[in-house]
Amino acid sequence: MFTRRIGAIGAAAALALGLAACGSGNGSGGGEGGSGGDKITIGIKFDQPGLGLREGSDYKGFDVEVAKYVAKELGYDEGDIEWKESPSAQRETLIETGQVDLIFATYSITDSRKERVSFAGPYFIAGQGLLVRADDDSITGKDTLDGKKLCSVTGSTPAQKIKDEYPGVQLQEFGTYSECLPALLSGGIDAITTDDTILAGFAAQDQYAGKLKLAGEPFTTENYGVGLKKGDTELCGKVNDAITKMINDGAWEKAVQDTLGPADYTPGPGNPPTPDACS
Ligand code: GLU
Repeated sequence: MFTRRIGAIGAAAALALGLAACGSGNGSGGGEGGSGGDKITIGIKFDQPGLGLREGSDYKGFDVEVAKYVAKELGYDEGDIEWKESPSAQRETLIETGQVDLIFATYSITDSRKERVSFAGPYFIAGQGLLVRADDDSITGKDTLDGKKLCSVTGSTPAQKIKDEYPGVQLQEFGTYSECLPALLSGGIDAITTDDTILAGFAAQDQYAGKLKLAGEPFTTENYGVGLKKGDTELCGKVNDAITKMINDGAWEKAVQDTLGPADYTPGPGNPPTPDACS
């Protein structure tokens, strides 16, 4: 499933033909043992500060740091990584179709997702929270949501939670969390709901200084896993070994400090987690 980098001439030809987007993840199983130059395609978020954020040709955040560490352990340098945006609702499909090899994208391990993909990890534990305007004191936690308008993302566990357990909430769903922010600032919606990690990252952006705040305590447990092709226990085991090493050698803690620290985010109970057995 890890594809060889196509040669320079091949790459140029593919670009000329507009086929560059098809150059990875063909599921051929090739690419092992080549003379260097193997690539790995990793799915992340592109719009979540502190977790997975694209800035020009730079990729930043905790998910990016864990992905780079794991890739290195699997034999891939940073330059061998092709980053692919993986919005919440597309993650299972991206894995199933081989468009990505691994996903590190605030991706909660759930039983329903496990019907289509496998997970290594968890490598982090977050919890669902609420982001509101700084001057709004009417939302103070999950028990104050009746009649409120909330924004979340299609295909995410927080959106599902609201639909399942909060019938009094009007839910607006977008494709990414950053699309919810203008609606929150303008008053079109009352709160954004998703993982506290993501919300803290948004709230800490300079452009929102003093305008937003997190309300109440986290009210779910989100175990972040590394999505991979269903049943690939060998790869899952290698990823788990890498995660365990990252936690034990201090790189996990440093990554947390460097990426989530600026948003004053402190990992909650259970962190750092112990990866589950692969099955
Ligand atoms: N961790 C949750 C999920 O996997 C919410 C964050 C996200 O949508 O990426 O659905």
